Amino acid sequence: MALSEVLFPLISISRHRIGIDGEGVTSLVSGAGCPLRCRFCINEEVLLRAKPKAVSPQELYEKVSCDDLYYRATGGGITFGGGESLLQAAFFAPFRAVCPAEWKLFAETSLAVPRENVALAAGSIDEFIVDCKDMDKDIYHRYTGGDVALMEENLRFLLDEAGPRRVIVRVPLIPDHNTEESRGRSISRLKDMGVTRLDVFSYVRPEERPKRRFRKYTFGT
Ligand code: SF4
Repeated sequence: MALSEVLFPLISISRHRIGIDGEGVTSLVSGAGCPLRCRFCINEEVLLRAKPKAVSPQELYEKVSCDDLYYRATGGGITFGGGESLLQAAFFAPFRAVCPAEWKLFAETSLAVPRENVALAAGSIDEFIVDCKDMDKDIYHRYTGGDVALMEENLRFLLDEAGPRRVIVRVPLIPDHNTEESRGRSISRLKDMGVTRLDVFSYVRPEERPKRRFRKYTFGT
């Protein structure tokens, strides 16, 4: 398949996001599919029910280029989210080829993907926003159903391949699942691995989210 024929399973585009998922003004481009099943997934309804539309790099460019001036003026660009954005890693290089070099490309990811997807993405994505959940094996598995070793190995690879300046790691406090202490241990471990950019924050239980916010934030890892 030619690179220009790689398609992206588009669920939605959220425009004019400021300082949420990347520098400057960004458009969040959300794709279908995720290998994890997080307990508080804000995207569950979308993952289960959404009907994606397959778009080519040029078609996606045409959908997001209306905000070209905002991206250029603020150092922003396009944030790929999901679901799991790195499932679509083969799409990033052909999309990079059709969009202006001034646009930044960001990817929100859990890194719960094969190594080759991370390597492909590192060639085109300017900045990675990694949600690590928790570095403890049991907490991670209970919360996501996945294996923390895969995320950790991919994070080590990404730090080597892209360098720490291109990697932000989100470290959440997850109600009923981890504690300040376990989060502190995760932070220490991440720093030992060479992570220099951390975003420390708290998840909100689904039932405690304001309805409007819950509808609005349908995407992200
Ligand atoms: S990684 Fe993100 S999209 Fe996937 S299940 Fe977890 S919260 Fe949902």
